[in-house]
Amino acid sequence: MITIDSVSKWYGDFQVLKNCTTTVEKGAVVVVCGPSGSGKSTLIKCVNGLEDFQEGTITVAGTSVGAPDTDLPKLRSRVGMVFQNFELFPHLSIMDNLTIAQEKVLGRSRSEAAEKARQLLARVDLSAQAQKYPLQLSGGQQQRVAIARALAMDPVAMLFDEPTSALDPEMVSEVLDVMTSLAREGMTMMCVTHEMGFARKVADRVIFIDKGEIVDDRPTEDFFGKERSGRAEQFLSKLL
Ligand code: ATP
Ligand code: MG
Repeated sequence: MITIDSVSKWYGDFQVLKNCTTTVEKGAVVVVCGPSGSGKSTLIKCVNGLEDFQEGTITVAGTSVGAPDTDLPKLRSRVGMVFQNFELFPHLSIMDNLTIAQEKVLGRSRSEAAEKARQLLARVDLSAQAQKYPLQLSGGQQQRVAIARALAMDPVAMLFDEPTSALDPEMVSEVLDVMTSLAREGMTMMCVTHEMGFARKVADRVIFIDKGEIVDDRPTEDFFGKERSGRAEQFLSKLL
């Protein structure tokens, strides 16, 4: 579903991604972890074309992200992205947050978009909040809205960038529960997170990035087993 092949990226002289190669199979869940500044956000932003890269190729569901003839807005509409800070439209109601791109990008009718939005709000247990505005919701609720908004576009894959790291501890599990249920339904997911409980329970693979390099990329049980690379070991010892 997602193929990252020999991707390198520079900001000026600084090489932020070094020859990164990995694959996320359809229906697989991959957790990406690594120290601050190691390139995790940059890597997943490259996957949906929010960042460009100078070398290598990335394909998502057969579409090459970097190719000059690729319709990037269309690709982005099919790859859901959820950020640390929710990034909802503050001036729109929750309902309108969920319908606007369905109407403007996918051309759905108002009623069709609203029906889809209602189903998804029910799914993330927020039906009662449809007419509220983002800032009237808790962080955990806002993040669940952000996930519902991404799902409204019928994405082929979902990318998460530290979706729980801006949340108060008591709200982390409500967001991880939604992500877990998505994973169980077979969504293809790439999740930057330091929630190692989630990784252990839900991920098929764990990727560890350090200084722009994929240092470890292994099945979850292997990653949490005994023989990690030195750098991953050091990193994990602080988290576990
Ligand atoms: P964190 O865990 O703190 O979110 P990260 O692993 O997501 O870190 P990135 O945000 O991908 O790391 O950044 C990787 C490196 O690239 C960092 O050293 C960062 O300072 C640098 N960087 C990120 N964006 C830019 C930019 N627009 N211009 C120059 N350097 C950048
Ligand atoms: Mg980051």
